Amino acid sequence: MLGFIFPAHNYEKTDAGYKQGAYADFLISFFDAWFDSHTDLRVHNFEAAIASAFGKPSSLAGIGNAAADIISFAPDGTVESGDSYGICEYERLEGISPRVGIALASLSNYSQQQSTGGTLPTSAACQCCSVADICGGGLLEHRYSVSRGFDNPSYYCHDLSRFYTHLRTRLREAIA
Ligand code: SF4
Repeated sequence: MLGFIFPAHNYEKTDAGYKQGAYADFLISFFDAWFDSHTDLRVHNFEAAIASAFGKPSSLAGIGNAAADIISFAPDGTVESGDSYGICEYERLEGISPRVGIALASLSNYSQQQSTGGTLPTSAACQCCSVADICGGGLLEHRYSVSRGFDNPSYYCHDLSRFYTHLRTRLREAIA
């Protein structure tokens, strides 16, 4: 099974080399090739996105606003509900070391996920998005900014929006 992972960046840890649209172009090309003649190859992201498009639960964090269903343990003992929360700047929490801050925030997030049945709060900016049912706002760590916490669309919103819009169009054409 294949999966595609966006780089670990957000509104605080920006990527100077990021060219908006490049990831969408790649995903669209790959999706079209896969959808047209290679669906025997399992692609986790595509399967999860299609499930979300049909109103089914996503099995993948970052798609359909599914919560991460893993806990990772870093070599320094940090416990995280994903493995890339280190890109969020919790070191600004007064008196709390960066890694401990991340662990606390992650555990808090994990608790919230459990109490909300495995879903996460969606950014207000995502709630009127035409592909919000598929995307769900993207990976939690990609949403982070110091000023608004996780209440942002994904740092990769532009690419996600383009890709999921394309995916939905292909699905509609296929079942028409
Ligand atoms: S595409 Fe952008 S606005 Fe739409 S749900 Fe995803 S992150 Fe939010």
